[in-house]
Amino acid sequence: MLGTISGFDRIGEENAFAVLARAGALAASGKDVINLGIGQPDFPTPGNIVEAAVKALRDGQHGYTPATGIPELREAVAADIHGRFAIEVNPENVLIVPGGKVTMFAAILMFGEPGADILYPDPGFPIYRSMIEFTGARPVPIPIREENGFAFSAEEALSLVTANTRLVILNSPANPCGGVTPKAEVDTLVSGLAERPDVALLSDEIYDQMLYDGEKHVPLLGYPEIRDRVILLNGWSKTYAMTGWRMGYSVWPASLYEKVRKLAVNAWSCVNAPAQHAAIEALTGPQDAVGEMVAEFDARRKLVVDLLNGIPGVSCITPKGAFYAFPNITDTGRLAKELASDLLEGPGVATIGGPDFGILGEGYLRLSYANSQDNIREALGRMRKFLAGE
Ligand code: PLP
Repeated sequence: MLGTISGFDRIGEENAFAVLARAGALAASGKDVINLGIGQPDFPTPGNIVEAAVKALRDGQHGYTPATGIPELREAVAADIHGRFAIEVNPENVLIVPGGKVTMFAAILMFGEPGADILYPDPGFPIYRSMIEFTGARPVPIPIREENGFAFSAEEALSLVTANTRLVILNSPANPCGGVTPKAEVDTLVSGLAERPDVALLSDEIYDQMLYDGEKHVPLLGYPEIRDRVILLNGWSKTYAMTGWRMGYSVWPASLYEKVRKLAVNAWSCVNAPAQHAAIEALTGPQDAVGEMVAEFDARRKLVVDLLNGIPGVSCITPKGAFYAFPNITDTGRLAKELASDLLEGPGVATIGGPDFGILGEGYLRLSYANSQDNIREALGRMRKFLAGE
């Protein structure tokens, strides 16, 4: 019998992909399925970005690029961060990677080992915990609570820091709850970690432009006192509707850059060249499409929350960011994953059960409102009827 290293027995999953596959199989067999499961914009990538990739292919951009990314793209990333937040970033610290996930893979691999503690949000993106367990480190959940507006509490996070803590993972705006961390909480966390220069921070800011109700993003790179230990995770997937292009970037402290550059050389060599040219256009071209998408998400957000709150047994607070609603379904008397499965197999509505995002996700469903308003109305109408036993 073949043996593998034990990490592979601990590696987890992102169930949104399993739900996507099941929803696809049901649809292929003729069932009418509305997918509120997967977290990807339902808009096409803006035309100017697609054209830039086509042009790059026609111009013969078919070979390897530097492992760290095309210099012009690394400069465009630095300029974009400066333009939006007035934060100086040296393009030499920017790494272009094949998708947002790759930065969490690299950062968790860098700090995770048996004996190390890594803090991560729960409910949170499932890959954090999966990768932590893969490395043999101890996953330490930071509870994300509904009564706190699904914002994380710095005080609670700091109380979980031990002598073994090596990495703290933050995510705002957040998947799956749509919470946004208030600046005061980030301030408290940063001052609490001032005495712990051995603790690194991975800040997953992939939804940084998906904010509503006048919320302002608080970039972790904006704190000079921790700047030498912050790893920024971001990318093109959500902001530019480019999930299938696999384009992400990270900003690394100078002391870690050489290590992660070598990981890139070992693991993926470089990122798809035409996609990198498209990413330059995304950052430097017109930004109207981003604003239009966010305005549409905002309208859907209000719709989805209104409709959820009209379903007996369901209550939903208004998310401030990303494109997810995280309704509380405890009063339906149903377990979340069973309800999600019944909604898919019965009325054909794909959602994700809260426990797929962590232990504290029981009692909740995640609905992605990256779907049309008509589909949202139809899906929530079906959900209401199903729960009413009609
Ligand atoms: N981080 C968070 C919080 C996400 O929700 C996602 C995708 O759903 C990612 C990272 C990964 O993005 P990508 O598809 O670019 O790998």
